[in-house]
Amino acid sequence: VAQRLDGKRIAGDIQADVAAKVAALKARGIQPKLAVVLVGDNPASASYVRGKRRVAEQVGIESDLIHLPETVEEETLLAEIERLNNDASVDGILVQLPLPSHIREADVIERVDPQKDVDGFHPWNTGRQVAGLDTVWPCTPAGVMEMLRRERIPVAGRHAVVVGRSQIVGKPMAMLLLNEHATVTVCHSRTQGLADITRTADILVVAAGRPRLIGADHVKPGAIVIDVGINRVDGKIVGDVAFDEVEPVAGAITPVPGGVGPLTIAMLMANTVSLCERRRGLRGEAQ
Ligand code: NAD
Repeated sequence: VAQRLDGKRIAGDIQADVAAKVAALKARGIQPKLAVVLVGDNPASASYVRGKRRVAEQVGIESDLIHLPETVEEETLLAEIERLNNDASVDGILVQLPLPSHIREADVIERVDPQKDVDGFHPWNTGRQVAGLDTVWPCTPAGVMEMLRRERIPVAGRHAVVVGRSQIVGKPMAMLLLNEHATVTVCHSRTQGLADITRTADILVVAAGRPRLIGADHVKPGAIVIDVGINRVDGKIVGDVAFDEVEPVAGAITPVPGGVGPLTIAMLMANTVSLCERRRGLRGEAQ
């Protein structure tokens, strides 16, 4: 039976490290601050925002919530982001996605000051990621890499298969694995023969948003299986991996919930501190 990769515990370790950095910054009179923009009352988004703000408080990061109505005009939202860009006390700006359909998400992402882009979604930062320059990375794939590192799971030379090619998970995940010298294959909705490919993975990262997409016959015995999916099925949260089927086959597996979710939030805190240090020319010094 697979080892369970305890995302909650690892996130706790990351948060403890972040809290120490925050304490060091505070000792120099610097208070890291995250601004969270929530549009509308989508219960899932509201719950993510609550979770993020709770952890921010635990590690000593100040968080401001800017809650705008579902019907807010795009111009008003952009003006609010501009205000946060110009607010010297704000280190990181997070716009909770998805946004209502009348707002163009790309416009909003591009309006965030790249230096305050705590999710690493701005095309400027995407460019820096691709170019191999120092920058922040999207929190979910960054959390997966941090878990692999802390659990001492070797990546170099291994075949990593990423299922999903989204801008926020799949693509940056593939790039991060490549940077750590994995041989990377990316699968997506048009991939033919998914199981034949995933069965060759030493490390399988699944971010498709499809419950039970990955069953026992998709997994090589002993593989590391990381389930990024968050799906609501019959009032319960499940991942993209049929956990009951895959656990007996895999070498290690993340549960849902309690796997990648907490790591994502922990990396959001790490990114906030990193941007705070960077903007003040303190990169690394506060450690
Ligand atoms: P998305 O909808 O933007 O992208 C899904 C990707 O999966 C697409 O690239 C698509 O091509 C691929 N896909 C869809 N069906 C497929 C299939 N049958 N076979 C192979 N590939 C398929 O979603 P996203 O934003 O990347 O999120 C993916 C999942 O991860 C969702 O369940 C989301 O809720 C979850 N998520 C979790 C966290 C976390 O913190 N744990 C963070 C972000 C997203």
